[in-house]
Amino acid sequence: MTCTEFLTILDDVIDESIAVETRIEIELHLRKCGHCEVVLNTTRKTIEIFQCHEVYELPTEVSERLHTAIMENCKKVR
Ligand SMILES: [Zn+2]
Repeated sequence: MTCTEFLTILDDVIDESIAVETRIEIELHLRKCGHCEVVLNTTRKTIEIFQCHEVYELPTEVSERLHTAIMENCKKVR
């Protein structure tokens, strides 16, 4: 799994609507990629905060900014 693949299915990961095999691939990727781990944790926390305020949709702007930031970081590492 690549960072791009991970980010593509991030919404499903958060929803936990992913297959067991995919979940294993994600765990393997997160073990060697700290950036995606941070993205996942940050996104989860952000969604929790929004849910506390009874807003269930993560604003597109927020998730786009998050995705852009992480892709920039991944590029720097490579
Ligand atoms: Zn990654």
